[in-house]
Amino acid sequence: MHNVIIVGSGCAGNTAAIYTARANLKPLVVAGHEPGGQLSLTTLVENFPGFPEGIDGPLLVENIRKQAEHFGAEYLHGTVIEADLSKRPFRLKVDHEWLETRTLIIASGASARWLNLPNEQKLIGHGVSSCATCDGFFYRGKKIMVVGGGDSAMEEANFLTRFASEVTLTHRRHQFRASKIMLDRARANPKIKFLPGTVVDDVYDTAKNEVTGVKLREVDSGKTWDQEVHGFFVAIGHIPNTKPFKGQIELDPDGYIVTRGGARTNIEGVFHAGDVQDRVYRQAITAAGAGCMAAIEAERFLEAEGH
Ligand code: NAP
Repeated sequence: MHNVIIVGSGCAGNTAAIYTARANLKPLVVAGHEPGGQLSLTTLVENFPGFPEGIDGPLLVENIRKQAEHFGAEYLHGTVIEADLSKRPFRLKVDHEWLETRTLIIASGASARWLNLPNEQKLIGHGVSSCATCDGFFYRGKKIMVVGGGDSAMEEANFLTRFASEVTLTHRRHQFRASKIMLDRARANPKIKFLPGTVVDDVYDTAKNEVTGVKLREVDSGKTWDQEVHGFFVAIGHIPNTKPFKGQIELDPDGYIVTRGGARTNIEGVFHAGDVQDRVYRQAITAAGAGCMAAIEAERFLEAEGH
């Protein structure tokens, strides 16, 4: 029986681990299918307080984990498949094993959204990517397409011009969701060509096991054509990782955990931290703060229960 299980090992989960470990609660952190969370997919982080020169995202999240382990947090490499939060102790199935815990901190974050094109999933890692900072390097001198109309798409398109010969930015509408500053920066970049009002119908070529091109469709006219690209980056937002908790805990229509104030959920003893609940701020520092809040709430809950 664990005092506290923390699901997720990004900024939120690891910070919750530091606090609960220092409170002597011996937390178990289930690392999840993307250990380190979104920070492990970034390069330089310039806005985390305390690092005047910036710090690499993977190093930052690894440091927070080491800090938690230093105080006795344990890490389990696995993914939560199923949960039973109907009664206490709460039960979690991690891969093949059921675990029991008095409190639960859900810090499972949010993962990249995909377009669900017929060939998209087959070509992930072979030219299809959701992370420019991870994979941009492989497309030096090549043609790249970025899909999306938000800040992520603008940021990725700009970043990818460091490597690509040209970047085409495709967006399904003519209006962009991105902030003006990000949009202006992308528009001012001579290597970025905008293709608004256009959707991607598929990506080629599974037979060659690499991306060679895409099938495009102009939304208004219905006109279709093929375009040669070698890298295909999807930047259309994220989906919260709450699948194992669906039907167990209150979620909003998009699957984000509904907060009951602080770090509380609709279930006593279950707390949220980070992007799994926060669709507004989504920053490393706010996730870390949320991890701290969840840990303090779990500690107080256990104390009130006499543990
Ligand atoms: P977002 O703002 O939700 O934008 C997602 C974009 O993808 C939208 O333009 C949307 O189109 C498009 N999209 C969604 N589903 C699609 C589909 N199935 N097919 C085609 N297009 C689809 O997501 P985000 O850009 O990842 O940004 C998330 C949050 O992080 C925002 O608050 C953003 O400001 C913030 N952020 C900030 C920075 C920065 O300031 N440096 C960088 C990155 C992200 P529609 O517009 O038509 O809905």
